[in-house]
Amino acid sequence: MRYNFTPEQIADPQMGPAAQAVRSCVHCGFCTATCPTYVELGDERDSPRGRIILMKDMLEKGGAPTDEQVYHIDRCLSCLNCKTACPSSVNYQRLVDQARIHIHEHYRRPFSDRLLRWTIAKVMTRPALVRIGLLLARLGAPLARLMPGRLGAMAKMGLIARPSGPEPMHFPRPAMVVQRIAIMPGCVQGALAPQIDAAVGRVLARRGIELVTLEGAGCCGALPHHMGREEDSRAWARKAIEAFERATFDGVLITATGCSAQLKDIAQQFAGDPVWEPRARKFAAAARDFLDLCTPMVATPPKALRVAYHPACSLQNSLKLNGLSEKLLEAAGFMVLPFQESHLCCGSAGTYSILQPELSGRLRRRKLGHIMAANPEVLASGNIGCLQHLAAASRAEVGSELPPILHIAELLDWAEGGGAAPWEKPRA
Ligand code: SF4
Ligand code: SF4
Repeated sequence: MRYNFTPEQIADPQMGPAAQAVRSCVHCGFCTATCPTYVELGDERDSPRGRIILMKDMLEKGGAPTDEQVYHIDRCLSCLNCKTACPSSVNYQRLVDQARIHIHEHYRRPFSDRLLRWTIAKVMTRPALVRIGLLLARLGAPLARLMPGRLGAMAKMGLIARPSGPEPMHFPRPAMVVQRIAIMPGCVQGALAPQIDAAVGRVLARRGIELVTLEGAGCCGALPHHMGREEDSRAWARKAIEAFERATFDGVLITATGCSAQLKDIAQQFAGDPVWEPRARKFAAAARDFLDLCTPMVATPPKALRVAYHPACSLQNSLKLNGLSEKLLEAAGFMVLPFQESHLCCGSAGTYSILQPELSGRLRRRKLGHIMAANPEVLASGNIGCLQHLAAASRAEVGSELPPILHIAELLDWAEGGGAAPWEKPRA
């Protein structure tokens, strides 16, 4: 596609790749059928091709974007499903990342929107503050249940949370340590579901992997990154890099696929920075997802359940670890059920379920419709955002009772003798 980016923009280490993405788009439209928002809405401006034109015009011109540009770019999930169908290998991610940064810096959103985004960036990235939020949501549960729109989406996340026990500070040490991996505490998951990291620790210990909490690190920076708040995101990234450099580990793990994808792509946030880019590259090379570390282990679960595994977009389109979860579950004695449209986003998409509750809800109904048609006894995924978002669906929305919704590590742990069924009895 012809473009009019300036030589300065093209030479810029951050903007250059975005300009290159625009240039490589040949406007063929193959991507449209893979885009969840286009499939759901049928509006070209909510398709990858339409958004590329909107982003090109906005970034070339500079200055304040139009309401129309912001509206349709905001409705992009950043799921990157469009990349899977693109014959020109358009790097849509670099483009949409720059577009979000540009909007954050040049567009004045309504006060309520700015306040919500600030709250997500400053509160949801800190587990201690998330815990206070959970408490408040529970205390005001009758009111929280009635809240509409974005506030309702946030309150619901607190109401359906099922934290079991405190965040693990120590993990089991294998008899023979094959690898010593630093585990990042992350943000919302530690407060909403600390049992996930505890299960990951037990599962990996059976495979000779010792986990050690990465002191001094916190959020991976994905939440602010999704909103174009790049300075906030970079600040979290620097903390993680510094913490990792203080000790010697064989790798660094975070147990949500959305966060792993962020860590593996962390160097792009510092492109052109002579100090931080090389440090970020080293960190990214050490970043691991649970699926990178967990090997299949034959087990006999107390019950050979029928499992629907929902592969998060971050797993499919960023980490490219498709199919590994299913192999782990089958080796552990579960029956994995196929379902339609498993490649499409469930509507969680980082901050999307809070910022775009209506469209996010439509995508969730669509996703759960296909999942429930397969009649699973358990629904599993590897990303806290998807787990919370799917679990927040009401019975009226789905038409029947949802099965238990768990992180894959919780299911594997149970199958491998980790104790009570995770949905029946909270673990210490
Ligand atoms: S990232 Fe996802 S929602 Fe955005 S244009 Fe691509 S396919 Fe559509
Ligand atoms: S498939 Fe690729 S080249 Fe074709 S319109 Fe979409 S982004 Fe552009």
